[in-house]
This record gives sequence, C-alpha cells and structure tokens, in this order.
Amino acid sequence: MAAEPAVDQECVEGYLFTRGPPRVLLVRRPPRRGRIWVPVSGKVDATDPSFAEALRREIAEETGFTELASVEPLDWEVRFEGPDGRRWRLHSFRVELADAATPRLSREHDSFAWFTLPEARARLYYPDNQEALDRLAECIASALPAPPRADATPGPRAVVVPRVGPDLFAALRAGNHRKLALQVPAGLVRNAHDLAAQIREAVGVPVVIAARACFGACDFPSTSETPGVDGLIVLGHAQIPNVPLERTTYFVEMRDPGGDPEHLAELTEAAHVPRRLGLVASVQHLDLVPSFVAALTRRGYAVSLGSGDRRLQYPAQALGCNYTSAEAVEADVDAFLFLGTGRFHPLGLAFAVDKPVWSLDPLQGAVEPPIDRGALVRRRQLRVAGCRDARRWGILVSTFAGQNRNGTALSLQARARNRGLEAELFVADRIDPRDLEGRDVQAFVNTACPRIALDDAELYAKPILTVPEFLMAIGELPLEPYRFDTYH
Ligand code: SF4
Repeated sequence: MAAEPAVDQECVEGYLFTRGPPRVLLVRRPPRRGRIWVPVSGKVDATDPSFAEALRREIAEETGFTELASVEPLDWEVRFEGPDGRRWRLHSFRVELADAATPRLSREHDSFAWFTLPEARARLYYPDNQEALDRLAECIASALPAPPRADATPGPRAVVVPRVGPDLFAALRAGNHRKLALQVPAGLVRNAHDLAAQIREAVGVPVVIAARACFGACDFPSTSETPGVDGLIVLGHAQIPNVPLERTTYFVEMRDPGGDPEHLAELTEAAHVPRRLGLVASVQHLDLVPSFVAALTRRGYAVSLGSGDRRLQYPAQALGCNYTSAEAVEADVDAFLFLGTGRFHPLGLAFAVDKPVWSLDPLQGAVEPPIDRGALVRRRQLRVAGCRDARRWGILVSTFAGQNRNGTALSLQARARNRGLEAELFVADRIDPRDLEGRDVQAFVNTACPRIALDDAELYAKPILTVPEFLMAIGELPLEPYRFDTYH
C-alpha cells in the first residue's frame, strides 16, 4: 500500500453547535477573502499540545468562547494544497456549547449566525465542510444522548415584580412560605429593616435579612446560608436566566420609569450624541426605553436595540459582566448611549465595545461625554505586559452559582502548565483580597465576576487579570484587539 504523502501544515476546524433544536455557528469571511461562510478554523501551531487544544485556542481567538461543553473529533480529515502551495491537512471536530451565545468576532470575520443544520449546509461554500456537517448531523441524531427535558421536574419558580408593593405581597402570600429571606443591594442597605418589616406585616411570616454583601443576581444567598428559608426576595436585580434557582425566588426589579422622554431626547441631541445609536439600559430604566426611542426617532435618530445571550433577561439590558445586547448591534451604530445611573455599566460597556459610550442619567437629566476607551484599554494592556514574566499564578474560582467557571479555571491551569508555568486554584464563595494576602504567587487570574479584576485591582496586593488578559499575558491571545471578559 502506498504511504500517505507527508503533511506540511496541520489545521483544525470546529463545528460549534447547540442542541434542542440543533443550531450550528458559522462565521463569514470579509469581502477580501470571498465573503464565504465557514466554520471556525485555523492552523495548528508547533506549541499546541494537541489538535483539540489547537482548536480551543482558535475558538477563543475567533469567537471569545472559552467555556465549551465538549470538543470531540468528527473522524473526518481532508488533505489539500494550501495557498502557499504546501500540503495541508484539516481535522474536523464537533464542539458543543450550552447555548447559542454571541461570539466576539476577530478581524478574520465580519459576520456570524447560528443556523439550523439545513441552513448551515446550504450556506457552506466548500463541499468538504458540507460533508463534515453531515457527520455532525449523524452524531446529533444517533450517538449523542438526548438533552435532559427542561420540563421533566418542575424546579423552583422565579416570580418577577416591578416594585415593592401590593403585587409582591400578594405573590408572597400565594407562595405560602414558612420563612422568607430578603437580599438588598448595597444602595438599599439602609432601607432593609423597613422593607423587612413591611413584608413581615403584609405576609405574616418571619423575614430574615441576608447580611453578606451582594454583587448581583449571580450571588444570592444559598440554602446553607439561610437555613429554613423557602422563599427568597432579591431586590434591585433581574433574574439571570442561566443562574439556577434553589427555591422560589422573587425578583423585585425596582423599575423606575422616571424621566421625561422628550426632554431626554432634546438633551441627547444638544450634546451631539451620534445619530446611529445603540441604546443600552440598566434593568431599573428599561420601562423608559420605548418612549425614549420614539422621542429620539422623531428627532431623526436611528436607534438600535439588541438582544443578548442567555445571561440577559431583556433586550437592551446591560449586566456588568455581559453586554452582548450591545455587541449584537455594534456593527450598525456609531456610538452607544447608556440609560441609567452611575459609572459601573458605562465603564464595562466601554471595555466591551469599540465605539464611543455616552451615558444619560434619566433622573438627573445629565448627559456624560464618551469614556476614553483608549486610556482604559492601555492601562489594562500595561498591566498585562507587567505580568508577562510571572511564573507562579493563582487562579481564582468562586463557588457562587452565577460566578462559577470551574471548567474555565481548569482549562487555564492546563494551559499554564503546558507552558511550564505554575498555577494553583484558589476557591472561595466571595473573592476577598484579604484572603489572598501572603499567597506565594506573582499574579492572579480571576474567573469569578469579571469586574473584580477591572474595578477592584487596587485592593489586591498582586496584579490580578481577567481571563482574556491572562491568555494575552501567556502569549495565547494578541494584545489587540482588547477583549472584555464576558461571562456567558
Ligand atoms: S458576575 Fe459580576 S457583573 Fe455579572 S451579575 Fe454577577 S456581580 Fe454583576
């Protein structure tokens, strides 16, 4: 039998898919490269420990996805002559994701879409891509176990109410609870006693106040922190759809439709905010969005509202760790306007999108000029550069249901070790800089709330990086474009 000719360049490609019903992610090359639809793919580097790891690296670079449920070979390979005239070989993989999240595209592609299998087959340009896709379809139809039925056993319920008042009290009474816990965000701590007393009186059951500091709807108190409690009241946050509930949870979103939309549109125009505009809001101000968009439209604005991934409950909503609703419309706008109070969300948005970010406080009627993204990014890049020589890393992992990225942490640890670096996992529920003092590491990478590394870095005795920044520091991602650590 004739020997197979030698291969000059190994390549990998990944068919990223979700189940129920199946969707496949394809990306589109820009016009200079034919504007064709292809799977994520790339060359295997000499430093890649395996084909699967090479693909993980390519997926992180081309989509920003680092949390992959599985990476399995499709047992399909193609040999062809590469553009450099050398012999290339391509290995295909199926890559399962938990959900059809929004990728953060690199400059190699100008569009993406999650297609059904027939749609994807019709769009794929190369016949060998179509054959690999057929193999994926066979796997999904036969070999892969069926996904668990979401409705097999009714889980704890989420109840959403706009404000504290009769609707909340009626829902709590209907819930027939033995004991309730109340969690309030930092800004409402002073009101917590009054609110607990109101609820106790209206519902007629004991109410305890969760004392631990709360970051968001990702870290509400567990059953072990609040024993005997069978109903939880979370104030000031929308439900995060991908955070599992342990018991019936009442999300009191504290909606505030305050602000005159006409006046706010007038202020926006007077501040010369660009007219092709993406609008993003905190959950408290989402009720103002329709009338504000209408007022802007009457003034000649083209306003885009995007829908985010499985971490965002509402279109146009912003979370400090997730701006996929903005990323979904980034190509259609010249600037973003954040509707809400404070600097927390505009700062995160400025890291996440490469467009000017203005902000408008609807209650104060104040427009803030755009944040200097370049300065923010340069500061972070300097921090990354300062960690390039670090040999001993601490990888921070939170056990909070909505902040836990254990899989990512293990993957980072493997990547560090493959490069001859030391990397230990440090596990806690709440990541607290005081618990990390004196640790024998040179730098930390944080897999918990991404904002810890961006906003609280000064509280840590050692440099602390986000997940993409860590990959930049160890040479697995370029410094440009800067990537925000989105929690999907
Ligand atoms: S991970 Fe951080 S930014 Fe995201 S919801 Fe939780 S506290 Fe907020």
